[in-house]
Amino acid sequence: MELSRRRFLEYCSIAAGTIGLTPGDLAGLNEALANPAAPEVIWLHGSSCTGCSVSFLNRISDTMGEPASVVEVLTQAINLTHHATVMTFAGESCGAVLEHAVKRGNYILVLEGGVPTAFGGFCCIAYSYKGEEVTYAAAVSELVQHASHVVCAGTCSSFGGIPAAGINPSNVVSVQAHAGVPTINISGCPANPNWVVWAIVQLLLGNPVELDADNRPVALYRIERGQNPWEKIHQSCPHKSAYNSGSLAADFNDTVNKCLVDLGCRGQWTKAKCDRCWNGIEGEGHWCIGVNSPCHGCTEPTFPGLQSFFRPYTSGS
Ligand code: SF4
Ligand code: SF4
Repeated sequence: MELSRRRFLEYCSIAAGTIGLTPGDLAGLNEALANPAAPEVIWLHGSSCTGCSVSFLNRISDTMGEPASVVEVLTQAINLTHHATVMTFAGESCGAVLEHAVKRGNYILVLEGGVPTAFGGFCCIAYSYKGEEVTYAAAVSELVQHASHVVCAGTCSSFGGIPAAGINPSNVVSVQAHAGVPTINISGCPANPNWVVWAIVQLLLGNPVELDADNRPVALYRIERGQNPWEKIHQSCPHKSAYNSGSLAADFNDTVNKCLVDLGCRGQWTKAKCDRCWNGIEGEGHWCIGVNSPCHGCTEPTFPGLQSFFRPYTSGS
């Protein structure tokens, strides 16, 4: 227990700059993790590719340099009692874990994946318990009632995302549309793992989280440069001067120092602090536009939409 807590704190300290944690947060976190009454974290998967979980697990793993410790860190340091990918329980035991959590209440519920609502929700079974299959839709409806906070990890649970795009035969909707409760949306496809950690840490500390109109934390989705709070990626993009001068890339063989708007960039419609850290690499440059790929607007309610990712985008939120 002590070792895992120490490792999680080490991770938060190493990544504090990019996660956005202050020295005060880190000091308080030590205390919060040591508290035996600290809330447990329940992580449930719905209609998704599990990419948000994989991204989250890889990030902590890379930072600590000890992949074998990831499960230990998650299950012991932040009291993650249910996560289908990493938990040691299987079968009926998973249902029992959730039943106990509901009885205790006051947990942080992390939901990854949209909610299929057609066919009675039976397109997506969250778990089986006492001989019955429990749909993700039913599990979400029940679990949100007893949670202290609901965090949507990724664009699928936040807004519907890829599973809800197009003809959507299973009628996938966002968690908020299905359950009608306030959520903290950490949108992204996948969600930036640092931002998921940030949200969990803020809730463990009892810090208030200011949200924007789409229930995303302002601290993560508003870009600030000095005194300037920017609303969209485009406004602070390193290719903005190329955009202003009309130096636009026409194909992917000629993108260096050119604006990517004609290759489908949605930066003008997208809010997110992506330019600080992605893929476990900190610092400027290591993000979609930084490696000369257009922004697909993966943090937005309009993602993915029905337009090609690689043609000029013609509408946005
Ligand atoms: S690359 Fe995208 S975000 Fe950057 S200036 Fe061009 S359109 Fe705007
Ligand atoms: S730059 Fe755009 S597509 Fe890339 S992660 Fe950020 S919001 Fe998503």
